[in-house]
Amino acid sequence: MANDAVWNRFISELLDKNDIVDVISSYIDVKPKGRGYWALCPFHNDRNPSLSINREGQYFHCFVCGVGGNAIRFIMKYESCSFMEAVETLAKRAGLEVPDRSGGDDAAYERKKKERQIHYDVCREAARFYHASLMSEKGLAARKYLENRGIGLSAVRRFGMGYSPDWDSLNFYLKDKGFKTEDIHRAGVLNVTKNDRAYDPLSGRIIVPIVNMAGNVVAFGGRIFNGEDAAKYKNTVVTDIFDKSKNLFAINLAKKCKQEGRLKYVIIVEGYMDAISLYQAGFDMTVASMGTALTSEQARLVSRLTKDVYICYDGDKAGQAATLRGLDILKKEGLNVRVMSMPDEMDPDDLVRKRGAEAFEKALEAAVPLTDYKLECAWRESGADKVNGEEKKREAFRTFAKNAIAVLKPLDSVEQDSYLGLIRDRTGLSYDMLKRELVGGSSTETADDSGVLDGRNAVADNLLNFLTAEDRAMYFVLASCLMRKDYAAGCAVPQTDNPFFRMVADYLAECKSLGKQPVFGELYALEGIDAFSEELKRLVSVQFNDADSDAEYFADCLSELNKIRLRSQIKALSEAYEAEKDQARKTSILVELSALTRQKTDNN
Ligand SMILES: [Zn+2]
Repeated sequence: MANDAVWNRFISELLDKNDIVDVISSYIDVKPKGRGYWALCPFHNDRNPSLSINREGQYFHCFVCGVGGNAIRFIMKYESCSFMEAVETLAKRAGLEVPDRSGGDDAAYERKKKERQIHYDVCREAARFYHASLMSEKGLAARKYLENRGIGLSAVRRFGMGYSPDWDSLNFYLKDKGFKTEDIHRAGVLNVTKNDRAYDPLSGRIIVPIVNMAGNVVAFGGRIFNGEDAAKYKNTVVTDIFDKSKNLFAINLAKKCKQEGRLKYVIIVEGYMDAISLYQAGFDMTVASMGTALTSEQARLVSRLTKDVYICYDGDKAGQAATLRGLDILKKEGLNVRVMSMPDEMDPDDLVRKRGAEAFEKALEAAVPLTDYKLECAWRESGADKVNGEEKKREAFRTFAKNAIAVLKPLDSVEQDSYLGLIRDRTGLSYDMLKRELVGGSSTETADDSGVLDGRNAVADNLLNFLTAEDRAMYFVLASCLMRKDYAAGCAVPQTDNPFFRMVADYLAECKSLGKQPVFGELYALEGIDAFSEELKRLVSVQFNDADSDAEYFADCLSELNKIRLRSQIKALSEAYEAEKDQARKTSILVELSALTRQKTDNN
C-alpha cells in the first residue's frame, strides 16, 4: 500500500510528466498568445478564447465560468470521470504505474483490478453474442417486435441491443472464447444451478446492454416480448462492476453529447425502453434510472455532466413518496431539478410514438421546478378542488397549507416568500399567519448570504475587489511565491489564521524544506483543497505587471501584513496582561509586549 508520502510523490511526478499545455492541446485547440496559452473554454458556451493555460504554474483557468485546476482536474471535467480515472489516464499517457492507494497489499489490488478487467471482457463478448443473435435468423421474431414498437435499426446498433436465443448458447460461446465458468458467473452474465449447470437467466428476452460512463458494458437488461413471465424486465444482479443503484442507463451517450458541446441538460426517465425511444426522437441526452428512487451516486454521475435535470416519469409514479425522495436527493447534490408532466397518463415512450417529438418538446417547456411540483402534489392530495361545503373546503385548505409549509422549510427566505404569496392566493389564509407557521417551530436554516463573492460571471479583477486590503495583500504574496517570482525568493510568508492561506503557506514551507520549487497546479492536489474553490479562483486571478513594480508592491504587501500581524499580537498580549493575576507572569508578558512594540516602531 502506498503511504501518503509515496502517493504525493507519485502525483507530483505524474503532473511533472504531463505538461498541462500538451494535455489540454490533445483535447482542444490551444493557441499561444502573449505570455500564455488560450483556448475556447469547453465548459461553457465560449465565443472568445477565455480559457487561459499557464505552463509555469501548470494550471488552467477560465475567466468567464471560473473553472480551473491542474491537468487532473481538466481531465475529470472534460471526460466527466472520477479523480482516480483521470490519474489512470495521465499515468498511461506518461508511462507510469499508479501505486495502490486503496489499502491492502499491491498484489491483492492488482488481482482485483485484473478480475474486474476479465468481467468487463466477459460482458463485452456477451454483448457481441446477443447482438449477433438478434441480427441472425433466430432473432427474427425479436426484430419484428422491435420494429412494431418503432425501434429502428440505427437505435438497435447505437445501443448494441441483442437477443438471447436460449439457455445455453451464450455459455458455449463464452467458453469457446476461453472464459472460465467462475468468471462468467461472477460477471453476472450466467447463473449456475445446484448441479453446476450454467444458464442464461435472460433467455428468450430482448437484451439491452448497460454501459458505464467510461464506455464499458457492465450489465444487461432483458425484456420479454412474447409469452408470459412474472417479470417484464430483468437486470443483471449486483457484481463488482455493476450496481443498479450506482449506474444510469445511457449515461455514456449523454457524456458523448457533452463532449460534442451539445449537452444543455439531462432528462431522467425510468426505463431503458423510454430512453431508447426518446433517443430516436432526437433527445439523446436521456438517461434511465432503472428504478424510481434515485440515489446520491446517480445524482453525482449526472452532476459530472450538467447541473440541469428534467425528470420524466409516468404519471402514476411521479407523485409517489419514493419518487419525491429521489428528487430531493438530486437537489441536495446541487442539481436544478424540473419535473415534466405527461399528458393523459401517457408514458414518455407513448408520447413520442403517438404524438411525436414536438409533443415531448412541449412537455419539456412546460416542466416546473421541483418546489412548484411538490406544491402541486400537495394541492391535489388535499382535495381542495373536489370537496363541497364551506367547512370541508376550509379543512382542505388547512391541510394543503400545512403540507406546503413543510415543502418550503428547507428553502432560503427569498424563495419562501415568493411561494408564500402563492399559497395565500390559493387558500385565502393570511400571509402573516403562514409566515409565522413557516418560521416558528423547527430549525429553518437561514439563507446563505455569502454570495457577495460569487465569481461565476465576474472578471478576474473583481474577484479581489471585494476583499480587505489585508487579504488582497496575502493573495498577492502567495501568488508571487507560487509563480516563483524572483523578488519572492526565500520570502517567509507572514503567519495567518485563515485556513486557506495557511494551507498554501504550509505547502510553500514544505517545498522549501524539500528543496523543490513550488508548482501552482500542485495546490489542486492538496488534501482538503476542494473546500476552497472560491479562494483558489481568487488566487488564480491575481494579476502581475512588470517585475519592478511587482517587486515594490510585494515588499509593501509583506510589510503591511507583518504590521497587521504585530498589531494583533500586541492586542492579544495586552488583553492577556490585563487578565493575568500572577505578578511574575504579568512581568514576563510585559517584557514580550515591549519587544513587540519596539519592533512596531522600527517598522514604521
Ligand atoms: Zn469557461
